[in-house]
Amino acid sequence: MALRSFTDYRLSEDIVRALQSLGYEQPTDVQHEVIPIALQEKDLTVKSRTGSGKTAAFGIPICELVEWEENRPQALILTPTRELADQVKQDITNIGRFKRIKAVALYGKQPFAKQKLELHQKCHVVVGTPGRVLDHIQKGTLDLEKVKMLVIDEADEMLRMGFIEQVGAIIDEVREDRMTMLFSATLPQDVEQLCHQYMQNPIDIEIQTPEAAKVQIEHALITVKETEKFNVLKDVFVTENPDNCIIFCRTQEHVDDVFQELDQLEYPCDKIHGGMVQDDRFLVMNAFKRGEFRFLVATDVAARGIDVEDITHVINYDLPLEKESYVHRIGRTGRAGKTGKAITFVTPNEMRHVAEIEEYIGFEIPRHDAPTEEAIAESLPAFERKMQATPVIKRDRSDQLNKGIMKLYFNGGKKKKIRAVDFVGTLAKIEGVTAEDIGIITIQDNVSYVDILNGKGPLVLRIMKNTTIKGKLLKVHEANK
Ligand code: AMP
Repeated sequence: MALRSFTDYRLSEDIVRALQSLGYEQPTDVQHEVIPIALQEKDLTVKSRTGSGKTAAFGIPICELVEWEENRPQALILTPTRELADQVKQDITNIGRFKRIKAVALYGKQPFAKQKLELHQKCHVVVGTPGRVLDHIQKGTLDLEKVKMLVIDEADEMLRMGFIEQVGAIIDEVREDRMTMLFSATLPQDVEQLCHQYMQNPIDIEIQTPEAAKVQIEHALITVKETEKFNVLKDVFVTENPDNCIIFCRTQEHVDDVFQELDQLEYPCDKIHGGMVQDDRFLVMNAFKRGEFRFLVATDVAARGIDVEDITHVINYDLPLEKESYVHRIGRTGRAGKTGKAITFVTPNEMRHVAEIEEYIGFEIPRHDAPTEEAIAESLPAFERKMQATPVIKRDRSDQLNKGIMKLYFNGGKKKKIRAVDFVGTLAKIEGVTAEDIGIITIQDNVSYVDILNGKGPLVLRIMKNTTIKGKLLKVHEANK
């Protein structure tokens, strides 16, 4: 079979270039199936686990189909959690970087007014959680008239979290001649129902998950008494010596307890759960992504949308009570073709839940004993070496893409009657600068931000200190990140 390539599809050069800069060399299975159909604007339901590249599977056609000249939102993407909304917005921004696609994320616990302002400006793609999106619709701050693409991401999770009515209410507000794409790791009955109710002859795509998951992820089940769990966890850390690992607990209290005990023993660790404020959740996630610490203790909810490359281990400290969540949790490892290990602790009276999970995933999880004294002694030196090693800080995929991009701040905007074309007109006249070097332009009432691409930022900054825009000399400097 010939190697697949993103140039096989009808994609513009701007998009293909961004994918190259992101290091996406070849489409993944789900992208290969979805992109050509989505480009024809047909309805789709896609069963595919997270980590399969599904965000780009809808992100690429959306960025391709968006008309840059249209100022109002053309795509709406619903996600179950704030982290995922933010991640998807970031992915869309990266894919659409050279086409200058503007994406806005809407979710709760963030100032409504700030989001309203963002929606008021040019905005092509809106990504949000159902509650806040509905809030904007009801207050008239989100204009859906031009939305021709709708994505329901992680539909199963959305329904599990009780968002069904809100999702339905939002869909009812979007024009009927839209394209709808639904993504879900699992397709329980209520998700199927949602598809039938709101989609027109959708094409069903299924990317084989359990088998693939089985190949990429090594599963293990260890029977352990509740009181022994923490000791077994420490032993497993020694024998497995994970590079990085998520430890899932059932409740926020349990996360707090496990984290506190690990922290006291000076393990490089942190925690994330829905009871923490959003900014702290982002800080923790970003530090984990960069590899600043190895052990993340988490609840299910907070772990949705976590896209961290190279997670080597997932430990289910508490057995997930819902069979679907086993698939979601283990989906945090073995991502994008990498291998991973999923170790599950089960107390003797929870065995019947294991049977349900096994029936669901279609295979038996291999039983293992807790690590023996000998195994621990043998692994200890390597474990201690890694514990003492300085963490290697990883770079984000988008770093490469962002290299050569400088965001400039100008102290003038709408109130001075400045529009995007005024910036393009002025900047493109600078010797050595073309319209291709100008990225996303954001114009607010009193200030504007312009991304300058291809390493031309310092040149533009120098020239603009003495050049007027629409006859006005504006203050300009590099924007704070
Ligand atoms: P997702 O399933 O959308 O959460 O994506 C999982 C991971 O795969 C993300 O880190 C993406 O950046 C990465 N990814 C997506 N598409 C590709 C591709 N074609 N080649 C390499 N990595 C990819």
